[in-house]
Amino acid sequence: MEVIDLHCDALLKLWEGKGRLSFADSPKLDTNKERLKEGHVKVQCFAIFIEPEIKQEQKFQIVLEQIDYFYREVLDKNQDMKQIKDWSDFYKLKPGQIGAMLTLEGVDAIGNDLTKLSILYQLGVKAVGLTWNTANLAADGALEPRGGGLTLFGKEVVHLNNQHQVLTDVSHLSERGFWDVMELAHYPIASHSNSKALCNHPRNLTDEQAVAMFKRGGTVHVVYYPPFVKEDGNASIADLIKHIDRFCALGGAKHIGLGSDFDGINMFVGNLENAAKTQNLINELLKHYKEEQVIGFAYQNFLNRLPGRT
Ligand SMILES: [Zn+2]
Repeated sequence: MEVIDLHCDALLKLWEGKGRLSFADSPKLDTNKERLKEGHVKVQCFAIFIEPEIKQEQKFQIVLEQIDYFYREVLDKNQDMKQIKDWSDFYKLKPGQIGAMLTLEGVDAIGNDLTKLSILYQLGVKAVGLTWNTANLAADGALEPRGGGLTLFGKEVVHLNNQHQVLTDVSHLSERGFWDVMELAHYPIASHSNSKALCNHPRNLTDEQAVAMFKRGGTVHVVYYPPFVKEDGNASIADLIKHIDRFCALGGAKHIGLGSDFDGINMFVGNLENAAKTQNLINELLKHYKEEQVIGFAYQNFLNRLPGRT
């Protein structure tokens, strides 16, 4: 069964590798082309992520460098990798081709300059998270003790996302920020978040947040990072599926998707260590859910909610 994965950090690793890693088959990448094919991942989202230690004045330069790796190393060297630049591109993929979509994990790098955001849209960024874990000019992240919501600038970012039919991603955002996004965003999504009721971590979503996302027509994509799956960090695929069960029990069966976080994590759910293992999750899901429901989790729920279709 084909899968759409809403989050990986392969671009960060490619950038850190300074050209030494091959996207085609480097074993250092959890998400390389060989592994995507083996795992039947039909579309992979590639997050642009700048580590918080980087000086502000260098951040946008590094965003451009990571996008350059996306174009040169992921796309140009692999003719079977096709960029998803318009929402309609999902339906143009041929057998054997894999879609690749750029996303932005936190707007720190644009400072207060919306022109930079506009340029990123033009380069193909289709989902924008306002923050990583800490605060920036747009909002507070989930680990920022102050727990603030969106600033006026953050609200402008959401409006610009709406205008461009770009998804606004709430994964990593503070809870107050989440509720602000729920009011403003036309296309909200949680690209890699689990259930806080099952695993009490500030990165996860409360039941109230999950229900709000479902009611707003967004999708929540479960993440394979053990500390977000189970509090002791020792997680199996069965434990991950409990998060899907929980979201289903809250009425989210048609709003659940997958967001691995591969290449951004250094601990793994058993039998789910890289993109090649993706079908282990699908096969386990098929033991618990009807095929049509699993197709929903794997890709159809996300496709049904794409801008222009809801
Ligand atoms: Zn993340």
